[in-house]
Amino acid sequence: MTYDPNNVFAKILRGEIPCNKVLETEHSLAFHDINPLCRHHVLVIPKGSYVSLDDFSARSSEAEIVDLIRSLGEVARMLGVDASGYRIMSNHGHDARQEVPHLHFHGCGGEDLGPMLRLPK
Ligand code: 5GP
Repeated sequence: MTYDPNNVFAKILRGEIPCNKVLETEHSLAFHDINPLCRHHVLVIPKGSYVSLDDFSARSSEAEIVDLIRSLGEVARMLGVDASGYRIMSNHGHDARQEVPHLHFHGCGGEDLGPMLRLPK
């Protein structure tokens, strides 16, 4: 899949639309989800142009991977959910219903998140 530079997270990275920033590093940006599904719902994204985890895992540098993973942990500690627990998710493609075609990890916490997955009936 070709990267679409007009996706909403590309616009956030270019500063064309605002976000509620939590953390910015050399290769990553973390900000609050506009439509939170739990008490703390943060999106952590690479600054590079990657469609999804499939793309990122194939093309990214080790520095970008390390930065993104460290950012996920750092955001959780910043939000104070490292002790209580949290869930990290990333949707890739159709079956996962990925909406925004720029890799993002959902970091969710701050309350009991229930079972990991509930399939639609
Ligand atoms: P996906 O379904 O692609 O895994 O999740 C996309 C997420 O991006 C959704 O949780 C949605 O609420 C969030 N989102 C979509 N547009 C915006 C936006 O303009 N700003 C922020 N902060 N989040 C957005």
